[in-house]
Parts: sequence; structure tokens; C-alpha cells
Amino acid sequence: MSQEKINKVTIIGSGPAGYTAAIYAARANLEPVVFAGGPTLDHPQRVPGGQLMVTTDVENYPGFPDAITGPELMERFQKQAERFGTTIHMENVTKIDFSSRPFFIQGESGISYRSESVIIATGATAKWLGVKGEDTYKNRGVSACATCDGAFFKKQDVLVVGGGDTAMEEATYLAKIVQHVTLIHRRDSLRASKVMQERVLNNPKISILWNSAVEEVVGDAKGMNGAVVRNLKSGDSQLLKATGLFVAIGHTPNTELFQGILETHQGGYLKTHPGSTRTNIEGVFACGDVQDSYYRQAITAAGTGCMAAIDTERWLIEQGE
Ligand code: NDP
Repeated sequence: MSQEKINKVTIIGSGPAGYTAAIYAARANLEPVVFAGGPTLDHPQRVPGGQLMVTTDVENYPGFPDAITGPELMERFQKQAERFGTTIHMENVTKIDFSSRPFFIQGESGISYRSESVIIATGATAKWLGVKGEDTYKNRGVSACATCDGAFFKKQDVLVVGGGDTAMEEATYLAKIVQHVTLIHRRDSLRASKVMQERVLNNPKISILWNSAVEEVVGDAKGMNGAVVRNLKSGDSQLLKATGLFVAIGHTPNTELFQGILETHQGGYLKTHPGSTRTNIEGVFACGDVQDSYYRQAITAAGTGCMAAIDTERWLIEQGE
């Protein structure tokens, strides 16, 4: 049954941005409520804690000189938010009304709040190729998360698509488990940072197919067993035998709830005022990857989460709260 409560701030999302906003808001006595999210039918791989929950070692988060796993880092974020009195609901928000204040926010269990302010930290989700066979063999070979699914492919041949840091990370991780990784990239140079590129280029278990694109994923009743890959320069296609295909081609911001309500940039990322986390609706703030198509790092997400909590606190004071 719905039980509506009025609170000062509701935070939607539980990655580094959402939990950092919660830590700062809680320490400012704003008693934040976090809707931490979870899997949906369209996005079964979404988990509370965001993208770091499907990452292996995080080596670039300051304060952890020997690296920390993504899930452990997020567990620490959560505990720190709870320590200062954050209320956390492990569910998705399914309904919002930002047309008048206090705003209305409802979760999938029916729990709802009237909230003086809202911080959106819903992050971004992995993109898919959209080729024939991809959907058919999802979770039967096709995956967007090597950490989650890599162990199923011990001593087998797998493919990774993409030329960014995620693709390098997935390929390097998989190379430790599988027999061979073929990285398929649509251009003749990688977008990834030099250090991540070198790990791939120097790994004898990884080979690269340049200027190439997956056209179709093929298989049988047991699952995927190959992919048709086209050379974009010559136009020639070949069938590569592989039991796994890991898609690592970037992300889409999670803004479905806010379509037509909050202003977005091209590509769908939420618009915030320059140098601030304010959106086009007073009292609604956005932080983390949902409003950042450029840096997209855990540390920058956490930084903007902190900004959002401070912007919210100051805005509430301006409103006489
Ligand atoms: P990016 O957007 O950086 O890279 C996406 C890659 O996929 C590009 O090489 C792109 O090709 C390719 N691509 C995009 N669409 C398609 C398509 N339809 N078909 C085939 N290929 C496609 O995304 P990432 O997820 O790799 O990284 C996002 C951000 O996260 C980056 O800032 C990255 O640095 C960061 N990151 C950092 C990590 C770390 O430091 N440990 C780990 C993972 C990510 P093209 O190059 O031609 O555009």
C-alpha cells in the first residue's frame, strides 16, 4: 500500500554520484531518501550501485593505491551514506511529477514521497549493436559484462567489440580466462587511453581485427557459436567461430523517466546549468553520468554528486527551508 511521506531531498540512483550526494546531504541533516534502482525487463543487467558493480579492479579511484573492486567500493559508498542516516529503497522509481512542489516520486513497490527537492543520479547503460542474432543469443553467448559472464567461457574463443577503455578492460579481463580474444574495432586506431591500449596490444592472447564490424551473431539451440564480421574497407565478410561476444561500445544515459520534462543535450544527457548541477526545473538537480557524456569517471561522478548535495542544501536555504 502507498504511504506518502514528505522529505527534503530524494535521490534517484545509487552509483558514485547518488551515494556521494546522499553522504553530503545526510551530513547536512537533510535526511535523504535514495531510490537505488535495480533490474528492469528492458535492462536486466542494471543493479543497485551502478556500473562499478560490473567492473573488476578500480585502479584510478584516489585513496586505493592497491586498487579496489567496483562492488567493494560501492558497498563502502552505501555504508557511508547509511552511517549518516540515509534511507535506501532498493527499487526503481516508476513515476514522478515535477509539475509542482513538493515533487512526487513513486517506487515500483508503491512507496511514494513528496519531496522538496530531487537529485537525479540515474547514470548510463551499456549500448548494444542492434545486429541480427544479438537479442536471440543474449545471455547465451552475447553479453555486455565480462566480469559477470566471463567465467562461462573458460578456455573458449570469444569476441569483444569496441575501441574504448571498456573494450580494453573487457578484453584484458577475458584473456585471463578464455583461450583467445578477438577484439573487433570499426576503425584503424583505438580510442582507449594509452596504458589500457598497451595492455591489449602486448597481450599474446588478444588479436585485433581493425576496420571491422559484426554483421550477425549466429548459433544453434545450445547458444551462440560464431559471428559474421565484415571488413569495412574491403567489404569482405568472414564467419568467426566463437562462443561469446562481449559488446563494449559505450553507453546511453538513463533518462526515460524524464523525457519531455527535463531538458537534454543531443544524445539524451540531462542539461545542467554551467558550473552547477541545476536543471531547467528549480529544485531538481542532476549529477554523475546521466549529465556527463565527457568525463564519465567514478571520481567525477562522485564530485558532481557532492556538488548536487551542496547546490540542493543552498537552494533549500534560499527557499526558507
Ligand atoms: P567510449 O565511448 O569511450 O568508446 C566506445 C567505443 O565503441 C569506441 O571505440 C567506438 O568506436 C565504439 N563504438 C561505438 N558505437 C559502435 C557501434 N555501433 N559499433 C561498433 N563500435 C562502436 O565508451 P567506453 O565505454 O569504452 O568508455 C566510456 C568512458 O568510461 C570513457 O571516458 C572511458 O575512458 C571510461 N572508462 C574508464 C575505465 C578505466 O579507467 N578503468 C574503464 C572503462 C571506461 P569509435 O572509436 O570509432 O568511436
